[in-house]
Amino acid sequence: MFCQKSLKPILEFCPMDVKLNQLISTVSANLGLRYRTVSDYYSYKSIKNTARVKNGILYVKVSDKLKDAPDDILEAMAYVLLSKIKGNRISPRYKRIYNDYIHSIIINDTSNLARGVHKPNGNYFDLENIFDKVNEKYLSNEIPKPSLRWSNRRAYRIFGRYDRSKNEIVISRLLDEHRTPFYVIEYIMYHEMLHIKYGFTYKKGRRRIHTSPFKKEEEKFPYYKESIEYLKKISGRERKFLS
Ligand SMILES: [Zn+2]
Repeated sequence: MFCQKSLKPILEFCPMDVKLNQLISTVSANLGLRYRTVSDYYSYKSIKNTARVKNGILYVKVSDKLKDAPDDILEAMAYVLLSKIKGNRISPRYKRIYNDYIHSIIINDTSNLARGVHKPNGNYFDLENIFDKVNEKYLSNEIPKPSLRWSNRRAYRIFGRYDRSKNEIVISRLLDEHRTPFYVIEYIMYHEMLHIKYGFTYKKGRRRIHTSPFKKEEEKFPYYKESIEYLKKISGRERKFLS
């Protein structure tokens, strides 16, 4: 969704990466475009960048996979993207610089996938998609997206965990099966997302993460009881299947 607030308070309302936006507006000016720019990184499934003009503002969304790209790569990307807006022929030099870089990160990504690192889409469930749905339905889109992945092994003791130091939600691959009800994956995701929301507190020197406000909100999940029953059944344990 593009930010469509009016021009004046734009800096307050539109999510924007200031450094990226500076680079984009410089390239835009070099091409003779005369728009205010609003640029941000966005987590697309594939590497994709978009630019469009609406109400006199140029909105640029850049794949977050380019977040660590050097400035000359981002600049080349901006020239490729904005030449289209301008209606200019795309410079082959920029095209090549950009394409070479994309090619190199795709190769790195593929080797990551082979090792099972950061792979949110499983055989039956896409964690990215589930995160977005849960965030929208139950958490007013308040939770910033962490990295999401299935566990490498088919862990059956713990079905979900949130790793604060890595800002990562991991869900057991054991559940990536056609017979797992959709709401069970949603419930686990919801539980782990509440950890992001509530953080932890200390009581009598002990770290507490499942506090009463946490539990109260957890029980609001519509299939809370059914999910617990399901997880009890497949783990053969009474509790402690989520961390
Ligand atoms: Zn927990």
